[in-house]
Amino acid sequence: MASRCVEIRAAACCALLLLIGASSAEATIRVVATVPDVADMTRQIGGDRVSVETIGQGNQDPHKVPVKPSFVTKLNRADAVVVQGLGLEHAYLPALLEVASNPNILPTASGYIDASIYIQPLEVPTSQNRAQGELHPLGNPHFNLDPVCGKLMAKAIAEGLARVDPANASAYQAGLARYTALLDRKIAEWAQLAAPLRGVKAISYHPDMIYFAERYGIEMVGTIETRPGVPATPSHLEELIDTMKREQVKLVIREVSYEMPLAQTVAERTGAHVVTVSSLAGGLPGTTSYVDSVEANLRALLAAVQQGTPG
Ligand SMILES: [Zn+2]
Repeated sequence: MASRCVEIRAAACCALLLLIGASSAEATIRVVATVPDVADMTRQIGGDRVSVETIGQGNQDPHKVPVKPSFVTKLNRADAVVVQGLGLEHAYLPALLEVASNPNILPTASGYIDASIYIQPLEVPTSQNRAQGELHPLGNPHFNLDPVCGKLMAKAIAEGLARVDPANASAYQAGLARYTALLDRKIAEWAQLAAPLRGVKAISYHPDMIYFAERYGIEMVGTIETRPGVPATPSHLEELIDTMKREQVKLVIREVSYEMPLAQTVAERTGAHVVTVSSLAGGLPGTTSYVDSVEANLRALLAAVQQGTPG
């Protein structure tokens, strides 16, 4: 009889633990992130208070993320959506939010967390260069490649999480402080590491390197695309190759979501090296976090520059 009581007590105890587990699981905020960079930052800042699902993957074109139907349900049940913003997701997110029918995560609602709010955009279209704005309507949205912009993204995300879950605001503030300290340490290391990139001339496939290039002193001379999102024409390529020869450009930056053969052809015709980087976190082998990805891009560029240095 006594042992049966022990069994019953043990079972009750297990049930209680399960209940506690269930209630703490329910306490997490459900977040859908558009791209891996903001997903990783949300996890770093929110810890076990957030559960994060990501729509896009690191090796995909951030403008053309294939959206699975299951994300409609996930967005419908989400407490927050975290976006990189500045129009990066404009090709798919507005339609997705409309179908998801969740008023809490619409752009005017508190659950819409826009990581771009503190970014000073570059290449903002003007009436003179409106054609540049087809894919980048609000300016160049690839600021995530610059880790100093990464700090501003993290701040916007932490504030957004505190807005959605004010009871844990101090925890998100603490998460931001920890993550910012990590980024500050890495940014100092990367500034030293990147010294050989200063003054290097390069082209990229898509104009997604400009914030990174400005941070580390790389001079971007052109793109393989004729305009953002518009494939190269033969006459554009001839002009680009002429410019590269004239300016002695020895680096062709090919983002992992773009095809290699054309980048290789341009490099062969100009005596340049092709280097593969990723415009989203997790796009290069062995990288999972935002910090890993910034470092992997930096090291890939350094290796290519050193490869091209005589002796
Ligand atoms: Zn773009």
